[in-house]
Amino acid sequence: PDQIYRGRFAPSPTGPLHFGSLIAAVGSFADARAQGGHWLVRIDDLDRTREVKGAADTILRTLERFGLHWDESVLFQSRRHEAYAEALQLLRERGLTYPCFCSRSEIAAQGAPGPEGPIYPGTCRAGSRETRRQHSERLRVPDAALAVEDRIQGRIAQNLAAEIGDFVLRRADGIHAYQLAVVVDDAAQQIRHIVRGADLLLSTPRQVYLQQLLGLHRPTYAHLPLALDSDGRKLSKSLAAAPVDPSDPLPALQRAWQFLGQTGAPQQAGSVEAFWQLAIAEWSPRQVPRSRALPAITTGASAAK
Ligand code: GLU
Repeated sequence: PDQIYRGRFAPSPTGPLHFGSLIAAVGSFADARAQGGHWLVRIDDLDRTREVKGAADTILRTLERFGLHWDESVLFQSRRHEAYAEALQLLRERGLTYPCFCSRSEIAAQGAPGPEGPIYPGTCRAGSRETRRQHSERLRVPDAALAVEDRIQGRIAQNLAAEIGDFVLRRADGIHAYQLAVVVDDAAQQIRHIVRGADLLLSTPRQVYLQQLLGLHRPTYAHLPLALDSDGRKLSKSLAAAPVDPSDPLPALQRAWQFLGQTGAPQQAGSVEAFWQLAIAEWSPRQVPRSRALPAITTGASAAK
C-alpha cells in the first residue's frame, strides 16, 4: 500500500562517491529509515560512454563503509533498455512523440534561452522531410502550468512548453533519456518518496508529466539544498566534487549531517553504527534548509594546515 515508505539513492557511476552525492545518500537514507521505510539503490549507468570503469562497484563499497546499507537488489539502468523502449512505444502509439533531426548547434542557435538551456523551438514538431535514420525522439509537451509540491523547496510550477520545450526521450545514438528512464525505474521499484539534490528540481515537472502520461504513481519529492559558496553562488565543482574517503567515513557523515541543517547527538558519535542509531532517531526534515553554504572542513587533515 501507499503508506509504505520506499525511497532510493540513484548515483551515476561517473567517478567515486563525492561529497555532493553523499549528501543525497545521507538525506534519502535518514528520511527512509526514520519512517521505518525501505531504501533502495539504483545505478544510473544509462550512458555507458560517461561511465568510469569500476565506479559503480567503488560507490557501492563506499556506501557500505558509510553504514548506508540498502534493501533488495541494486537496479542497473544499463539492463533496463527493454522497459524504456516499451514505455516509449506506448507514448509513440498515442502520437505523443515525433522524430527530431535537429543538431545541438541548430537548437542552440534557434531556441530562446530557458532555465535548463535553449528551449526547443519546435522545428520538427509538425513533421520533417528528413529521411536520415539517425534522429532523436521528442515528447510533445503542453502549454500549461504544471505544479509540484516539494517537501523542502515548496511549490514549484513550470510551463513545459514555455520553459523547456518538447524534450528528448531517446537520443540519436539510441540511448533513452534520463527523464524517461528515471520515471520508468522509480515506478518499477515502487518508489514512493524521492529525496535527491536540488540540481534535479527543474527536471521534476518533466518527470511528473511523464508519470501522468504513463499512468504511474506520483512519488513525493524532497530536493536537498545545493552547496553554495559564501557569495550564494552554486559551488564550483571542486569541494562538492571531492571524493569522500571510504576509510574514514565518520567525519564526512557528520559534515553531511551538518550540511543538512541537522544538529545534536550524531555529531558526537564515536562510530558509524552509533552515528546512524542517533541520526535515524533525530532526523528532522523540517530543519533542512533550502540552500546553504558548505561548512568549512574541520577534519584533522585540513585543520592541520
Ligand atoms: N543519477 C542522478 C544523479 O546522480 C540522480 C537521479 C535521481 O535521483 O533522480 O544526478
